[in-house]
Amino acid sequence: MAVTLSVALDEANRCLNCKNPMCMQGCPIHTPIPEVIKLFKEGKVEEAGKILADNNPMTTICCLVCDHEKQCEGNCVLGKKATPVHFSMIEDYISTQYAQLVQYEKPEWNGKRICVIGAGPAGMTVAINLAKLGYKVDILDSNAKVGGVMRYCIPKFRLPDEVMDNILEKTMKPLGITVRPNTTVGEEVSIDDLFRDGYDAIFAGAGLWRPRKLNIKGESYAHVCYGFQYLQSPESYVEGKNVAVIGVGNSAIDCARTAIRRGAKKVTCYARRDGITASRTESQSATHEGIEFVFCHRPVEIYDDKIEFAITEKQEDGRFVDAACEHEFCEADQVIICAGQLSRFNLNSKGESNDMRDHVGLAVDENCMTAFPGIFAGGDMTVGNLTVVHAVEDAKIAAEGIHRFLSK
Ligand SMILES: Cc1cc2nc3c(=O)[nH]c(=O)nc-3n(C[C@H](O)[C@H](O)[C@H](O)COP(=O)(O)OP(=O)(O)OC[C@H]3O[C@@H](n4cnc5c(N)ncnc54)[C@H](O)[C@@H]3O)c2cc1C
Repeated sequence: MAVTLSVALDEANRCLNCKNPMCMQGCPIHTPIPEVIKLFKEGKVEEAGKILADNNPMTTICCLVCDHEKQCEGNCVLGKKATPVHFSMIEDYISTQYAQLVQYEKPEWNGKRICVIGAGPAGMTVAINLAKLGYKVDILDSNAKVGGVMRYCIPKFRLPDEVMDNILEKTMKPLGITVRPNTTVGEEVSIDDLFRDGYDAIFAGAGLWRPRKLNIKGESYAHVCYGFQYLQSPESYVEGKNVAVIGVGNSAIDCARTAIRRGAKKVTCYARRDGITASRTESQSATHEGIEFVFCHRPVEIYDDKIEFAITEKQEDGRFVDAACEHEFCEADQVIICAGQLSRFNLNSKGESNDMRDHVGLAVDENCMTAFPGIFAGGDMTVGNLTVVHAVEDAKIAAEGIHRFLSK
């Protein structure tokens, strides 16, 4: 539901305007929260919106999906004794208004071409920041539409497609950014092709699009799937009544909440450890919707109608190991595995793209440049599964790094 002006103003009026704004420090990209709130209270919505959008081209998304409790709002001093200022609501109002007002124009071309691989938040941010500096930017993406995980995996009830469409139409296209969809670098197009065709630098923001397997018996059965694929088209999969989700991270919760919406009677998330790794807001929503959590269960075999689990116990050093001979069978007619993601994209020793290698954490320097001059990378594929705002943080560093590299 859209945040109204009065709700956003009520929140802004609660801000204490601290000398040392901890909220800003808690934000990975140090959004200038006090300045934005001040301008907003003075009625300067457009100025406040420009600051937000310049600092974070994904501002309309971050206000909806960031883990605010761990970031800006979790660091608000008011939160120590009472309710923190909900900056996410203020940001939602201002950035939504600004997105309707702003009219970007294509800057004069500086003569340099950039290829961005992947249209997730990392690739979109690099593209926007470099296009503003006069670079001609093309994005190549395996998918049909921009947004990466934000469009294809985060459920629509949390993040509607129109937010990504709006960034494409109102920011990327006016800045002259061109997107080539349905194109996988490493398959139809190689890194060599990109340099042959005159790109001066490449940014790879290809994310992690290959599921980590459990490597247990029964994993290939038709009623079993991986969460990443399930979220892309839940309607394509077996519709279970008693659904088991293996995992307790954000992806697992999204799968569980989607399964409930698709009519499952019972959805249970199983964890090998003893706690939930998803954000508190997400896990609270899940519990509220009737999703159950079972801890200290490690799946060992999947059958047609059940899963066999080994019961684990915590060691003194914090590791969880199987308790001797303790196994339990839990009923499930649909199994969704959320055990993490690996990269589908990698660079081999010659700087060529090389598909299908187990790799997370492609090494980059402090400018996000890989070992191959002119090839930069950022987002999930360099840091492992993180968040949208961390992808933006990386992308900002990479865009500056590319600009420095090409300005030499
Ligand atoms: C289910 C789920 C829920 C999440 N919920 C949240 C949340 O609530 N809040 C939050 O902040 N974060 C969340 N995240 C994490 C967040 O979405 C990611 O950290 C972020 O999207 C990473 O951005 P990225 O640009 O690095 O990669 P991605 O978003 O993965 O985008 C990569 C893009 O590269 C393309 N691509 C891949 N390989 C190639 C190739 N070889 N050639 C061309 N294109 C290629 C892909 O098609 C994709 O469009 C969630 C993740 C998942 C899986």
